[in-house]
Amino acid sequence: MTVAKGIKISELANELQMTDAELVLALNDLGVKADGPASLLDFDTAVTVRQMLAGSEKSVEISATSTLKEIAEAMGVAPNAAVKKMMELGQLVAMNQRVNKDAAEKIAAAFGFTVKVKAEPKPEPKLPARAKPGSGVMPVRPPVVTIMGHVDHGKTSLLDTIRKTNVASGEFGGITQHIGAYQVEIEHNGESRKITFLDTPGHAAFTAMRARGARVTDIVILVVAADDGIMPQTIEAIQHARAAEVPIIVAINKIDKDGSDPSRIKQQLTAHNLVVEEYGGDIIAVPVSAKTGVGVKELLEYIVLVAEVNDYRADSHGHAVGAIVEASIEPGRGPVATVLVQSGTLHVGDCLVAGCTQGKVRAMTNERGERLYKAGPSTPVEVQGLSMAPDAGDTVEVVKNEREARKIVDERLQDARTVRLGDNRRGITIEAWSEKVSEGELKDLNVIVKGDVQGSVEAVVSELNKMSADRTDGEVRLTVKLSGVGTINESDVSLAVATNSIVIGFNVRADQAAQRAAERDGVEIRTYNIIYNLTEDIDRAMNGLLAPIFEENILGSAKVLQRFQTPKGQVIAGSMITDGKLLRGADVRIIRGGQTLFTSRIDTLRRIKDDVREVAQGFECGIVVENWNDVQPDDVLQCYEMKQIQRF
Ligand code: GDP
Repeated sequence: MTVAKGIKISELANELQMTDAELVLALNDLGVKADGPASLLDFDTAVTVRQMLAGSEKSVEISATSTLKEIAEAMGVAPNAAVKKMMELGQLVAMNQRVNKDAAEKIAAAFGFTVKVKAEPKPEPKLPARAKPGSGVMPVRPPVVTIMGHVDHGKTSLLDTIRKTNVASGEFGGITQHIGAYQVEIEHNGESRKITFLDTPGHAAFTAMRARGARVTDIVILVVAADDGIMPQTIEAIQHARAAEVPIIVAINKIDKDGSDPSRIKQQLTAHNLVVEEYGGDIIAVPVSAKTGVGVKELLEYIVLVAEVNDYRADSHGHAVGAIVEASIEPGRGPVATVLVQSGTLHVGDCLVAGCTQGKVRAMTNERGERLYKAGPSTPVEVQGLSMAPDAGDTVEVVKNEREARKIVDERLQDARTVRLGDNRRGITIEAWSEKVSEGELKDLNVIVKGDVQGSVEAVVSELNKMSADRTDGEVRLTVKLSGVGTINESDVSLAVATNSIVIGFNVRADQAAQRAAERDGVEIRTYNIIYNLTEDIDRAMNGLLAPIFEENILGSAKVLQRFQTPKGQVIAGSMITDGKLLRGADVRIIRGGQTLFTSRIDTLRRIKDDVREVAQGFECGIVVENWNDVQPDDVLQCYEMKQIQRF
């Protein structure tokens, strides 16, 4: 790429809607040398000229899809110059790459513009809206229920018992597969009614799904152990359910136990604004025992009643729309995802997009392991055929064909990159993740696995799946987003950016392009030859024990010789590098008389008139330190970086 050194007088005149001659005259008045239309004006001077001649209210309009090139052209700036300016501002952005608002503001300000965001027409929401009671046009669909509550109050046991209480079908223990959701059928007023349960207890999963925009749950069952009462996670569950604006049914569990006191629980509920019917409120509370099965049938009947009152309906015609309940890479089967269909009907052979992944439905199975060829609203099905594992809560849409699916995914990946643009290190490292786990901030770790042969890939994936499943707290989860055989390549790294994953290589390395991309985007690539080392690292990370260690690395020092000030008021420290080197963007401390006065960052480094990235020992240069104007001769500028220490 050849980068222009400035802007032509004729271009700038055109931008400012002046004739070339007028601009040359105006420049002469400002004391700027300009010979004729073809002479070049450096970009910094052009910014000053723009501000002086056009006023500072110049603005450029951007939209969510604006590329750097479009913004540059809207400002009348050569696109190459905008790319270069972005580099100077510390961001590597290609001409045709989309730019987010922060980055757009930076580039606009650099050329003396402000940014106006063009209002975008809101896309029509594609997910089915909740049917109003009695709207009566679409067919009734089964309610979708999530069980929440404090740890050990019996969520898992209740789900198990319900799974076995398949009253109408008479089958006992028919559900054989764990697919993250299942349906039961009960008889109600002589009619058969279905209920869909999400089999993913844990508030984190519920909230994560909501955070991704998936309105999946219709009713929350709040489990409270009768011998224990309302506990912190019970309160958390109430808050989550309220935030989701869904009805709550309370299951007072473990009533078989000595010392259980359901009426005490009902009183406690009142304190949290859940007033049960016998106290004059409208909250249904059902005493149950997940152990003996007492009350479970009544609980199911109440669910059907609440569903009737709320009249959940969905259109079963047309292309399916739904949400991912859970997804993983399964050894031997590749990516498998449980899809909860929310409207329309999903068929084998349909092309679909789920979050940032796409594919064709190769096979569908239900929780009984039966193969299905179609699935209507509120039906959970396990789908095979996606290209990678999507995230729980990702929306699923059936599209016309594979080409359209790929186009949508490409756009979303591009958007994911755009959203993260603005901070250069967009990926995640395992150590940063571990640190967040220890602070209780981040719960999900996504990984991409590459290996030398199918057998080793499967061994690693199954080991990782097992480690995640073995976690009893259900809070810290590890998901394999993609697995495959072969060298780690650039596309693995860009998927890692889009899915916030780290890349694990087993007996394989990353090729050069992948290494460069990983370095640029801050994606961590970890390679192993011994599976024990891999699992040990992941285990430590999951326990929050792998926080990063940093060490200071002194790069070099400079001595200030003279202080300059530009007409714009910028203070430059004219200095000599006395040892090592100084790097633009690096951290710097200002030392005067042996004392550190201030720490900041090197904003600009200039040799003669050129901006440079680094200056080495023995050379003079001009240094601008961010937020520091009190430059005095003999000050020492010590430049350093914090380096992360590798543990292995
Ligand atoms: P979760 O953490 O909410 O999923 O709770 P679990 O379903 O794992 O149950 C925690 C413990 O309570 C287990 O030891 C269960 O056997 C026990 N438990 C669950 N429900 C009942 C019940 O109705 N009666 C009795 N006596 N024990 C129960």
